[in-house]
Amino acid sequence: MDPFKNLPIRYFDHESEVEGVEAALTRLKAEAGREYPLKIGDQTHTNERKLITTNPADPSQVLAVFQKATQEQADQAIQLADRTFDSWKQTPASERAEILVRAAEVLRQRRDEAVATMVLEAGKNWIEADADFAEAVDFLEFYAREALRYAEEQPVTPLEGEEPELFYIPLGVGAVIPPWNFPLAILTGMSSAALVAGNTVVLKPASDTPLTGQLFAEAMAEAGLPTGVLTYLPGSGSEIGDFIVEHPRVRFISFTGSMEVGLGINERAARVAPGQIWIKRVVAEMGGKDAIIVDKDADLDAAAEGIVASAFGFQGQKCSACSRLIVHEQVYDTLLEKVLDRTAAIKVGPPKDRTAFMGPVINQAALDKVRSFVEIGKQEGRLVAGGTRIGDVGYFFEPTIFADVGPDSRLGQEEIFGPMLAVMKAANFDEALEIANNTIYGLTGSVYSRNESNLDKARDVFHVGNLYFNRKCTGALVGVHPFGGFNMSGTDSKAGGRDYLGLFLQAKSISRKV
Ligand code: NAP
Ligand code: MG
Repeated sequence: MDPFKNLPIRYFDHESEVEGVEAALTRLKAEAGREYPLKIGDQTHTNERKLITTNPADPSQVLAVFQKATQEQADQAIQLADRTFDSWKQTPASERAEILVRAAEVLRQRRDEAVATMVLEAGKNWIEADADFAEAVDFLEFYAREALRYAEEQPVTPLEGEEPELFYIPLGVGAVIPPWNFPLAILTGMSSAALVAGNTVVLKPASDTPLTGQLFAEAMAEAGLPTGVLTYLPGSGSEIGDFIVEHPRVRFISFTGSMEVGLGINERAARVAPGQIWIKRVVAEMGGKDAIIVDKDADLDAAAEGIVASAFGFQGQKCSACSRLIVHEQVYDTLLEKVLDRTAAIKVGPPKDRTAFMGPVINQAALDKVRSFVEIGKQEGRLVAGGTRIGDVGYFFEPTIFADVGPDSRLGQEEIFGPMLAVMKAANFDEALEIANNTIYGLTGSVYSRNESNLDKARDVFHVGNLYFNRKCTGALVGVHPFGGFNMSGTDSKAGGRDYLGLFLQAKSISRKV
């Protein structure tokens, strides 16, 4: 295989790119309401209880209907995965890698459809949706190559009189539980890494975005993944999540989502169920309260641009989103002015209109949470932008900024996961770093400064898994910026990095006396 390269993101400045997505949006609307049966092995099921996916820009618009999997069906899927593991683990790594590469090709053929699906189902703008798509393809191509690297002969120290060797084998049945906010990229990355390593997978997509995940399931099937190696199992996390996590035949759980759910999974996975013969491995990537620091000598225009992109891109619904802005007091007022100017220019609207930068938040609960934090923010800081819902159709909310927020306030500590930025003042750079580190999380962070010694200091003490200098804190690229956070942000799995596949493997050491 050629060396891995990132798939370039499209910015839709060519008419032909625009037409492709427009056509896909039209097709999706024509197909709206289509029902997908649940497939477990060769069996298809139609359940009484449905999982209905809608458009957050217009929730009355039903996009597709899925079956809500029951515990019994989850059990069938796990047992099937358990049986299929015997053959899948024997399949050479090169064959498994080929399937990922073919699935990437299938997806590339459906790029416009994937973008349109995320525009309608997740409320992403076109460029964000295309970036999500490109990341999904990158994961497939990257992990395919990683599987070959892990399958190579591994170095061991020679010993006279013996022939030692070490190789990696898969773990078993994995439960993969992704979030809705990168409905194609994260779902694809988590699932494909586990699969290419030789594990079988039960994939429970987030309930807000099952239609986007369906694209991955179809691409893998078309690429030749044998039946039963992957079961795509839409269903409610609260109804079947615990059951899957606690199942004695599940060997590992790969989760990305909120801290609350992640900690619950970690706890339940630690309990040994009757008949269980292993310690379950848990990979859990969770929330963030990410900060950008602006030093007194920073390029303030560049900083303002990066801040607004990081805080309000995809409505602030990224684990990497900037939700705290920490500014040196000498440039506080000037920078805030610049951020407010750029924020005022943001266009909010239905993302099917490609000129809208911000779309709706994902659902009613997200909208309610953002609104409740506006009330909290009014007690804790000074509202300088936004604060209000837009219209009454769809979950649209203004980009919102609170200034003069205290570092220990709720606005300064809790993940809101919406278009809301808390601005804080620091007396000097050291204090800015202290404020930045003063949360339970540690996912991304960014520093704008021209002072080399301050950047060096940040390099040492800013305790986040992904640190950026003089650029935004969102937009990690596969292979370039391996992704994962410290502390309550998770297990620091570094998705898209060289350590990631190892999380789904175990090493076997063999030595023969000669
Ligand atoms: P979430 O509510 O925690 O849900 C994540 C997944 O867990 C969904 O598939 C959900 O299913 C499922 N789930 C819910 N309850 C469960 C249970 N008891 N047992 C097993 N699974 C259960 O998170 P989200 O709202 O989808 O995503 C937003 C969060 O993800 C934010 O906190 C964000 O920071 C974090 N995130 C982190 C990263 C990272 O790399 N660190 C990346 C992206 C997002 P249902 O949808 O059916 O409830
Ligand atoms: Mg929806």
